[in-house]
Amino acid sequence: MIESYLLKNIGGYIDGSWCQAESDKSFAVSNPANGKKLTDVGMMGTIETERAIAAAKRANQSRRDIQTRREWLEDIANALRDEKREIGRVLCLEHGKPWQEAQGEVDYAASFFDYFAEIIDELQPDTLPGNVKGCSWTVHHRPVGVVGLITPWNFPIGMIAKKLAPALAADCPSVTKPAQETPLTMIAMFQLIHDRLDLPPGMVNLVIGEETEIGNTLTGSPDVPMLSFTGSTGVGRLLINNTKEQIKKLGLELGGNAPFIVCDDADLDAAATNLIANKFRGSGQTCVCANRIYVQDSIYDEFTEKLVAKVKAMRVGDGMDDNVDMGPLINADGFNKVKKHVADALENGATLETGKHPNELSSDRNLFYPPTVISRVTHEMLCTREETFGPLVPLIRFKSDEEAIMAGNDTEFGLAAYVFCSNSDRAHHIISRLSFGHCGLNTGTGPAAHAPFGGMKQSGIGREGGREGLLEFTEPQTVPNGG
Ligand code: NAP
Repeated sequence: MIESYLLKNIGGYIDGSWCQAESDKSFAVSNPANGKKLTDVGMMGTIETERAIAAAKRANQSRRDIQTRREWLEDIANALRDEKREIGRVLCLEHGKPWQEAQGEVDYAASFFDYFAEIIDELQPDTLPGNVKGCSWTVHHRPVGVVGLITPWNFPIGMIAKKLAPALAADCPSVTKPAQETPLTMIAMFQLIHDRLDLPPGMVNLVIGEETEIGNTLTGSPDVPMLSFTGSTGVGRLLINNTKEQIKKLGLELGGNAPFIVCDDADLDAAATNLIANKFRGSGQTCVCANRIYVQDSIYDEFTEKLVAKVKAMRVGDGMDDNVDMGPLINADGFNKVKKHVADALENGATLETGKHPNELSSDRNLFYPPTVISRVTHEMLCTREETFGPLVPLIRFKSDEEAIMAGNDTEFGLAAYVFCSNSDRAHHIISRLSFGHCGLNTGTGPAAHAPFGGMKQSGIGREGGREGLLEFTEPQTVPNGG
């Protein structure tokens, strides 16, 4: 069982107090590195969500000034940094990613609170230039109101920071629902907020449990005008359907299928190093990780050789051990999806460059999937059509830039893409034709707090981070002032 001074209350947080589930149902949270149970968590549902919404609605009846909200954000950022080792440990134990990487995620989360504290004055009213129709015009950035925040397991603290920081900056009370695989990091963060800040009761609420009951209560409530969701495109589509009657504001950060294009003039060592950092972070379970690697014909063999050598050197193991590059997958479903993609590719003519044959692997024994590279991959294979969400690198050959652009865009997703190319005009031409919200040029880096990030096509609606990510939690109210 997990022991942590940040987990003295394992439960929900409603109206400024810790609370337990009304029902006697619970679910287990386990360490994916060894299958051992970390703790049981009470299963909350409709009743607790309704209570949380009512508390948030009460908090929404008064307003806080910008300076107060700036201090909240700064205090949370500082608290996260102070406790990053312990939060990182909890995160590593329930998610599996290496402890060092988990601490990096805590820093990443803190950077969103820092950033929104820095730019909160963007929410001061804007007076538009000139006098039109005999009036001076002012635009006020009003808080949307109570917001529902639903997050996935792959970044247990990173994803909530992108939502909670701008919600607090905009003065929106919130009801948060974390994923059932990783609720403990969220509880630890709420414990810090409870201990270190003096927020009005109901300003932040945490409800953990049954996804359909919590989701339907949030989508069905007229008191929740906005939902911000990060997760799969399937659940995002469900939320669109469930909110269409009430026409709620939606922020949706959904699935990806990122192309990673390596041109013949690229620095191949840099491309391989960046690909590894991008692809194997979180064991390949990130929305922005490269899913399809397009390598130009004339450098395909050389790039494959460099990449395979680096992948073979990777160390896989329990994230709490020293010198581990990659931990386990989150659960057996995730493991079996990677296995299915590799098996499908090999059956259809791909070559296993490194990794194990799927017949040698079973999720019954462990969730550590070996870092795998396959070559001779074609566009018909499952691993290029679907988001693998695991440590698989499929290498696809291309001849012309036009072919890479067409193949890269041949997906319903539009989240992240990467281009490695030393000719800047050529690179910018390729990027300008790619329909992805985030396009790395000679880097595999993912999003950062100061830049708007989000998906085109079925990868989502709206942006997180940047000024855009702050304004998502506001409604502009225009006041023509007749004097
Ligand atoms: P998921 O199954 O969609 O779950 C995400 C969250 O939604 C979890 O909290 C889940 O709760 C909840 N949920 C499930 N069904 C629901 C319902 N009917 N109503 C309301 N909430 C519901 O996604 P996941 O497997 O956790 O995450 C992986 C996906 O997220 C990938 O596709 C990845 O690309 C995407 N992702 C996107 C971004 C981005 O920024 N675009 C970032 C990270 C991840 P339970 O855990 O209780 O089921």
